[in-house]
Amino acid sequence: MSMFEDIPVDVGVVYEGERIRRREMYVELGGPRVQYKFELVRVKKPEEVEDGKITIVGPDLKDLEEGKSYPFGIYIEVAGKQLEEDLEGVIERRIHEYCNYIEGFMHLNQRYDIWLRLSKKSYKKGLNSFMYIGKVLQRLFKSELPIIEKIQITFFTDPEKVKEMYEKALKIYEARDARARGLKDEEVDTFYGCSLCQSFAPTHVCVITPQRYSNCGAISWFDGRAAARVDPKGPLFAIKKGECLDPVKGEYTGVNEAVKEKSLGAITRVWLYTAFGYPHTSCGCFEAIAFYIPEVDGFGIVHRGFKGVTVNGLPFSTLADSTAGGRQIDGFHGISIEYMRSPKFLQADGGWHRVVWVPSEVLERVKDFIPKELIGKIATEKDATNIEELKKFLIEKGHPIVERWKEEAPEEKEEEVVEEKEIPELPLTIEGVPVAGVPMAGGGFKIILKNVKIKAKKAIIRRIEKSGGK
Ligand code: SF4
Repeated sequence: MSMFEDIPVDVGVVYEGERIRRREMYVELGGPRVQYKFELVRVKKPEEVEDGKITIVGPDLKDLEEGKSYPFGIYIEVAGKQLEEDLEGVIERRIHEYCNYIEGFMHLNQRYDIWLRLSKKSYKKGLNSFMYIGKVLQRLFKSELPIIEKIQITFFTDPEKVKEMYEKALKIYEARDARARGLKDEEVDTFYGCSLCQSFAPTHVCVITPQRYSNCGAISWFDGRAAARVDPKGPLFAIKKGECLDPVKGEYTGVNEAVKEKSLGAITRVWLYTAFGYPHTSCGCFEAIAFYIPEVDGFGIVHRGFKGVTVNGLPFSTLADSTAGGRQIDGFHGISIEYMRSPKFLQADGGWHRVVWVPSEVLERVKDFIPKELIGKIATEKDATNIEELKKFLIEKGHPIVERWKEEAPEEKEEEVVEEKEIPELPLTIEGVPVAGVPMAGGGFKIILKNVKIKAKKAIIRRIEKSGGK
């Protein structure tokens, strides 16, 4: 008998990555429409766990109204001789993977931000109780992680209970994160990698260091170490740091090799502490995005829960589309909230001194980790809703980025003057596009481009000497 014969829908890796659109969904659990949601795993003493027990606190799936969104919580208690608290975060992250094995059941994000949907099709097939989901999770957990000897699961849909548990869960996440603080990247010789999100972003690999928390904010370096030890064939693996090629940008030979191997050659270099050049890839379940704002030469931050539009006029969802997919995109950088508390946070780009706009909710969460001289100088949605307001705010408050503008301005001016003088001798070359012979020289005419977008990877302007040489 198959392990899932008594489950009304199919269960298997093949369903990972399956998306359920709003029109196809029967109900939504958690997600952006509800405030309270969580998933939490705790390691308990054997006598505290009744193996196989499943409890539903609040209405079951069949009692929920079609098309609606509900507060939701999954609380899993496990016991086993080899289990330790360090493994809670890792076991918890597997909820994402195993829920996604269930046909017509989608799980996104993590911790306090989970977002699940059940499809109408699977509901019609009979998946109408959390009992089935609980049974699948219990069997998968026990077969894939044999160190779990006992497991009991509680599903919460009662709004009051979800809220109560949510508040407890936040404290537990914070305690876990705080534990991982203090250790420096320079003090270890091994980092950890995670490829769990490759079902959604095939070239993505998280590199988890003591000072660069995973993008999802759910796996710390300690979690990675514990997982790689107990489940060496699992998605978390050790990365020998190798030689440090650049301590500021954060480039290591061992990281480059591991990422190249795990991304099947798609990504060959990673700079851990910058959003430019070869930034860490972004899957899709990052907690927040650091996005470059060229008008002020600084970074905005937006988290998944932010409603409305950011200071550059774009909502989280649009910025997430430009960031996700396991790519390395200059100036669009998926991050966790915990990474914002790290001294390595965007270190090569100027760190917090380069950050100009952060939603007030996030700023409040990380305020103790922001350099004192910046307090009150970083705008929130309450201070600036567009770039003009942002510029005004930064000038008024004396944000250090304003000094950067001043430093850059004279150079630009100088260049302009030189260009004006030298134009007769400066034919334009755009790499890959031959433009020789375009009569730019002599001041004979002016080219005005209107409503045009020009994209170029690189533009090189070379001086041609009169003798004919370069
Ligand atoms: S975001 Fe990174 S660490 Fe988190 S599950 Fe995905 S790959 Fe793993």
